[in-house]
Amino acid sequence: MTARIRRSLDYAVVFVGYVATARFGLSFDALAGIATTVWPPTGIALAALVLRGTRLWPAVSLAAFVVNVTTGIPIWGAAIIAVGNTLEAVVGASLLRRFSFDPRLGRLRDVLLLVGWAALGSTLISATFGVAAAALAQLPRADSYPVFWAVWWVGDAMGDLLIAPLICVWAWPIRWSRRPLRWLECGLLGVALVLVSAMVFHRPTSVRAIELVRGTYALTPLLIWASLRFEQRGTTAALLLVSVIAAVAASAATGSYFAARTPHERLLMTDGYLAVTSISMLVLVAALAERRAAIGVRDEFISIASHELKTPLTALKLRLAAAIRTQQRPPPRDAEAEAKLGRALTAAGTTTDRLVSLVDDLLDASRLTAGRLALRLEAVALRDLVRDVVGRLREQAAEAGSRIEVAIPEPIVGRWDRSRVEQIVTNLLSNAIKYGAGRPILLSALSSNGRLSLDVKDAGIGITRADQARIFQAFERVTTAHRVGGLGLGLYIGRQIAVAHGGTLSVDSKPEQGSTFTLELPLEMPLSGARSGATSPPRVS
Ligand code: ADP
Repeated sequence: MTARIRRSLDYAVVFVGYVATARFGLSFDALAGIATTVWPPTGIALAALVLRGTRLWPAVSLAAFVVNVTTGIPIWGAAIIAVGNTLEAVVGASLLRRFSFDPRLGRLRDVLLLVGWAALGSTLISATFGVAAAALAQLPRADSYPVFWAVWWVGDAMGDLLIAPLICVWAWPIRWSRRPLRWLECGLLGVALVLVSAMVFHRPTSVRAIELVRGTYALTPLLIWASLRFEQRGTTAALLLVSVIAAVAASAATGSYFAARTPHERLLMTDGYLAVTSISMLVLVAALAERRAAIGVRDEFISIASHELKTPLTALKLRLAAAIRTQQRPPPRDAEAEAKLGRALTAAGTTTDRLVSLVDDLLDASRLTAGRLALRLEAVALRDLVRDVVGRLREQAAEAGSRIEVAIPEPIVGRWDRSRVEQIVTNLLSNAIKYGAGRPILLSALSSNGRLSLDVKDAGIGITRADQARIFQAFERVTTAHRVGGLGLGLYIGRQIAVAHGGTLSVDSKPEQGSTFTLELPLEMPLSGARSGATSPPRVS
């Protein structure tokens, strides 16, 4: 499908979905023919703009205008309302995007963003424009403006709480289960939800036993069942099912579970129940998803850590075995045997260093999590520090075919924790060697305005923009064909050390063109930056 056809289809789907569900909403005894507590179009517009981009706003404007102009309101009134509805969707979607909202609603923060910015926040705009249009047009039944405003706002908020999550979580490719038992369970849950919702919300049955236990609490276990077993998709679908049954019951003349005089009051009470239930269930299902994700990360970490530790351990075992064999040869040992023994022991020493550094990284990561990274500040001459680190890595660089060039034109002295700064520089250089494709590496440093700026630049495989944001988090590595071993902790620890000094560690990179990592540190640590153990989430630049 070409991009053009796809875009036209997006516009058409939003327009038709908006108009059709608006008609449904207006059928619920709309105040002045335009304000109703059932307003799914708000959710459709928000989800469409979040998923497909705010460029879809004309479809929302046109649909809102068409819907309102057919209710009998003057054309200019319909235009004011359409502007309000469009702004509501654009502002809501932009705020969510601005705060990196993930529409799959798999994190608590995503649910809170949706509730705060969209459902409670952006809907204020549309309600205000709506009440202004009604006042200017002097519509009948619009005399009590606070009620009119509240009805409008509640209707829109419910759209964001019930319809937007539904579309957002179902809009991704679905892998349908092939297990018959799962389908049976799903069917049972659906039937139970319909029966219990009908029993709860529809007015009265003649069966006394049902009347005695009638209460919305009866639905909670079923919704929890949906959350535990059918995750976001099952939960949003279950909430929609309950909502439709509850809304139809509330508007019916025969009355509903919520005892109130007018259908509007009953609908408002129903909305209150549905809003609280929907938020609670979305929070529950997101917390469960976070827990599942954390378990996944832990399992992956255990597998990475055991693999990373096993590789040097196996090498160490082989080298020691070779040394023992040579050492056990009957005397006299010739010079070649002595040299072989020496080589095996040196290699064993190098492998042990690698093991120690892996375990040190793990210890540092756990110290950082517990907020126990202490800094021992002293005067550090940068040139000496860099010379030591480069000296230690020269052999490793030569093996990879890279040359390390150093450009520090003036002596720089700072008050830092020497071993921690050494740790950062070592990590940056050894990454440049690992991922630098055998090309030259340049370490340069300058100081200005009381701050050190140190760059480690390679011309290697580079890092995509998306990956740049995550490599500073613990255990995050980039999976590429060039992948080299590592725990994915070095940059995380490095950034935390930089932050603890009152500095930053950032990257600028383009795939296949190389990366430049920049460490910035104040020469004198500011008192406010003197933190031991930076546990706050790292800033990503
Ligand atoms: P690791 O021990 O895996 O190297 P780091 O935290 O030091 O852990 O790095 C995280 C990831 O960032 C690496 O796995 C690698 O994918 C990517 N990375 C780091 N430095 C570079 C670089 N100079 N060029 C390309 N990718 C890099």
